[in-house]
Amino acid sequence: MPERTLTGFAAAPGLAAGPAVLLAASGADDRVTVPLEGRQSQLDGALQALAAAAAQLERIAGDLREEGRGAEAEIVETGALMAHDPGLEAAVSELVLKGGLTAASAISQAAEAAADQLAAIPDPMLAERADDVRSLGRRAATIAAGGRDERVGGVLVAAGLGPADVAELGPEVEGVALAAGGVTAHAAIVARSLGLPMVVGLGRDVLDLVEGETIVVDGSLGRLVRYPDPGRLAQARSERERRNQARATAVARRLEPAITLDGRRVKVLANASSLAEVREALEQGAEGVGLLRTELLFLAAQAWPDVETSFRFLAPLLASLQDRVATVRLFDFGGDKTPPFLTGAKGRGVELLLENPQALRDQLEAILRAAQGVALRLLVPMVTRVEQVVAVRQALSAVLRDRRPPALGAMIETPEAAHRAAEFARQLDFLSLGTNDLTQLALGLERESSGTSPATHPTVLRLIDATMRAGRGAGIPIEVCGEAASDADAMPVLVGLGADELSVGAARVGEVREALRTLNFAACQELAQRSLLGQTGHAGGESL
Ligand code: PEP
Ligand code: MG
Repeated sequence: MPERTLTGFAAAPGLAAGPAVLLAASGADDRVTVPLEGRQSQLDGALQALAAAAAQLERIAGDLREEGRGAEAEIVETGALMAHDPGLEAAVSELVLKGGLTAASAISQAAEAAADQLAAIPDPMLAERADDVRSLGRRAATIAAGGRDERVGGVLVAAGLGPADVAELGPEVEGVALAAGGVTAHAAIVARSLGLPMVVGLGRDVLDLVEGETIVVDGSLGRLVRYPDPGRLAQARSERERRNQARATAVARRLEPAITLDGRRVKVLANASSLAEVREALEQGAEGVGLLRTELLFLAAQAWPDVETSFRFLAPLLASLQDRVATVRLFDFGGDKTPPFLTGAKGRGVELLLENPQALRDQLEAILRAAQGVALRLLVPMVTRVEQVVAVRQALSAVLRDRRPPALGAMIETPEAAHRAAEFARQLDFLSLGTNDLTQLALGLERESSGTSPATHPTVLRLIDATMRAGRGAGIPIEVCGEAASDADAMPVLVGLGADELSVGAARVGEVREALRTLNFAACQELAQRSLLGQTGHAGGESL
């Protein structure tokens, strides 16, 4: 049978292969009407199931805390609190006693109704809690229906999952594929921090999979492959093995510097959009955050986040960095990151912000307030003209008052910016190469649908090289924060071109630090020169 690919969204990177494990439905049966005399015992059962679900969640949270994963523990604890919510209990009670629903059905319906209410609130943080309530409902309904609690290994396939469901998955789960879900949902955040490959938004087709059929989930490209050929399976299995080994080594060597065999020191920072990712990155030895994507949490927002909303998101995250580098990128809305309030708006990143000066001032104020004690760097996304960073600097000085000015940098991720890199470098304190957008734009690919990102294509490398030279000329550091920074083929080329810092996904930090220790800088430089001329073995470069 030829391979068949389902396409969704890349929620947590990595390849996973194994038998599909279809998550059973909750066992709720809406067609049954319980006779009057049986309703009280159904209600007792429902309340016991809610209490049991809360106890399970508290136990999971406790285990997470013991493992030092406090951020995830907090997320799971929220679910336990919801199980004790009197509003939820009252709704369940009414559905059972008046409506004659079974315990499982009543819990499912009450949880769904509560989740729908939360999802309708125009506050992204509260709206995301909807998933937590649904997850709690599924858990409690399964208990009420006497559901199974066995652990089966493989790739978990489900309509949707809550963060606690993901946090509870044991090592026997290789990866997760969901019909629904978004990349910013808490479930995805937990998966990323666990290094568990996850694809979401695959659509209802994924629920037609047959229990036990072998599948491959590619959490980096957002795909699920049915009927995988033997080569793909072997690749997935070896990638999983490599990831496990890499993490163990990384944690053990977290305090050692990342330095090439011939002495070139490269800083390794993390890309993050959640507290859980920052924690995982630090555990793996990250020297700080090189890219904080501030927009991801607000993709369902109905308005530009105000100072308070941004502050609530940023404060715990930056506090966890203590005195390390915190590179906070201004909202990069637009393209595939367009929230409802910007529907129809043209432009992307800084362009949209400059059209909404109050939103820019609010975000700057929130960042400055939250960044007490960290080495703050502000990063401007999607610049094309130097006037844009000049305008951001003016807005910054207007809100700065007596606070210390942060370092200001720009993402070089459009060909226009790369061509003007020297001008940008003169105005700024650092530059950050966004190879994701740069590659797609330079090669005319569609970022939202393209499955490849050949950053080592000579056309792209020439833009990267020009940017590196501009940075060196101005004496400012150059970071690479696109996915190429953790790509085994591209990373040595980027180091050879002179990258001072690599900022990579939280779960990749240790692996990249380890890889740097095996490189020879002089050989990387030589490889980079050949790559610029297109003289390497293949378009994607060659490994050292
Ligand atoms: C990039 O374009 O390389 C980048 C890091 O930005 P984002 O992926 O958030 O667009
Ligand atoms: Mg980008």
